[in-house]
Amino acid sequence: MKRIPVVADAASYDVLVGPIEEARTALGQIILVSEPKVFALHGERIAALLGCAAPILLPEGEAAKQWGVLNDLLAQLAARGASRTTTIVALGGGSVGDVAGLAASLFKRGCPIVHIPTTLLAQADSAVGGKTAIDAFGEKNVIGSFHQPSLVIADPAFLLTLDQRQLRSGYAEIVKYGLIDDPALFAWCLEHGAALLAGDTALRAQAIASAITAKARLIAGDVEDRNGQRALLNLGHSFAHAIESEAGLGTVLHGEAVALGLILALRFSAELGHCDPAAADELARHFSAIGLPISLDQVGISAPALLQWIARDKKNDGAALNLILARGIGQAFVARAVDPERLAAFLA
Ligand code: NAD
Repeated sequence: MKRIPVVADAASYDVLVGPIEEARTALGQIILVSEPKVFALHGERIAALLGCAAPILLPEGEAAKQWGVLNDLLAQLAARGASRTTTIVALGGGSVGDVAGLAASLFKRGCPIVHIPTTLLAQADSAVGGKTAIDAFGEKNVIGSFHQPSLVIADPAFLLTLDQRQLRSGYAEIVKYGLIDDPALFAWCLEHGAALLAGDTALRAQAIASAITAKARLIAGDVEDRNGQRALLNLGHSFAHAIESEAGLGTVLHGEAVALGLILALRFSAELGHCDPAAADELARHFSAIGLPISLDQVGISAPALLQWIARDKKNDGAALNLILARGIGQAFVARAVDPERLAAFLA
C-alpha cells in the first residue's frame, strides 16, 4: 500500500494506492454514492467492507453531472438525515466523483468526502485535487467548487472490469503528466503504456502513483488555481473541453478529448515557434499505436468549430485568451493573451 500525502492549504489528506482491504479506516457515519454499473460490479463488496446501508445511485457516466441529479442527491442526503459530519463515499469514475464532491461541498455548507475511484482516469487524476463540477448550459464543468477529499483510495484491482476504451481514456491523462513537467514519465509511458493497457496491474499502480505525485506537486502551491502553477494541469484541456462540448457532452470520452487536445496544444505550440513539431508527431504516433484518436476527423468534429468554445473557456481572463502550451516534452507553460487570429488560422 503506497501512501501519497497531498497538501492543499489548510487541508491535507492521503491518497492510498493499493488493495482497498488494506485501507479500512474509521469514517464514522457513511453514505455511499455510486452508479448502477459500478455498484453491480463492486458495490456489494465495498458496502460490506464499509458497513454502510443501501447506496444512493446516480445515472451512469457524464449524465450524472446535471443540476437535476445534484438536486436529487442533495434531497436524498437530507432524507437520510445526513449531518455535516456524515462522510460521503463516492464509488465510481470521475463523473460520480465530480457530482458527489459538489454535493458534499454544498450539503450543510460542507461535509467530508472520501473518493474510491474505479476508473483509471479517476484514480490517476480526477479523484485528487478537490475540483468538483457539473455541466450546465451545454458547457463542461461550468458549475463547481473546490472541496478537498478527506481520503482517496485508489485500488487498481477495480480496473480489471474496466473496458479498453475507458482505460485508454484514463491513460491519456497519465501521459499528460509526462508532457507537463516530467519527460522521464513520458519516456516511461512510451515504453510501458501498451503493457499497462493490456492488464499489467503493477504497471498500472506505478503509473497511478506517478500521476498523483505529479498532481500533488503541481497543486501544492496553487490549490485553487490562482497563480498559474495548477493551470498547467489543464494542458490540452481548453481544446478537450471544446471537443467534448462540440461533440455533445458524453459523446467523446473526456480522456479521448484530452488526447486530441494534447496533440493540438503541441501542434499549436510548434506553429507559434515555441516547440519542435517532432514532439507532437511523437505523441500522435504513441496515441495512435495504443488506439486513442489523433485527429478531429476521427471524432467527427471540424476544427474551426472549436474556436467559439475555447473563447468561453474558464482559463481566459475577460477577453484575453489563455492557453497552456509547451516548449517541448515536459515543458508546459501558461501562454497569456494568445492572439485569437493565430488560433483561428491554426484551427482553420
Ligand atoms: P465516468 O465516471 O463517466 O465512467 C465511465 C464509464 O466507466 C461509465 O460507464 C462507468 O459505469 C464505467 N465504470 C467506472 N468504473 C468501472 C469499473 N471499475 N469497471 C467497469 N466499468 C466502470 O468516466 P471517468 O473517465 O472516470 O470520468 C470522466 C469525468 O471526470 C468527466 O466528466 C471529466 O470532466 C471529469 N474529470 C474531473 C477532474 C477533476 O479534477 N475533478 C479531472 C479530470 C476529469
